[in-house]
Amino acid sequence: MHEISLVRNIIRTLEDEFEENELQKLNQIDLKVGLLSNVEPILMQNAFEAVVEDEQRFFETKLVVNVLPIIVKCELCGDESEVTNYSFKCRNGHPTKNVIQGEELTIERVHFDE
Ligand SMILES: [Zn+2]
Repeated sequence: MHEISLVRNIIRTLEDEFEENELQKLNQIDLKVGLLSNVEPILMQNAFEAVVEDEQRFFETKLVVNVLPIIVKCELCGDESEVTNYSFKCRNGHPTKNVIQGEELTIERVHFDE
């Protein structure tokens, strides 16, 4: 399950970014996950719960996965539109693979206890 290694990477990133006493107060992690990143939110949640079993300090931490739609920008007419049904076309019907949103997997925000 590649979600486990993704969750481990996220935790490692947070450990690099914050001090241990700050991590103790971490109560929510918001992730930004593009539809093209092949990440299933529910699998991500399950992986997080599994990893947290060995990471007691994140026991109270909630993981929120925000899924972003795929947006393409047409090179011909500059139109930016959402891709539905994996049909990579702009609103004027030009085929395009110029994805400007939808491949990301990043930490959007973290919340701490007051
Ligand atoms: Zn176009």
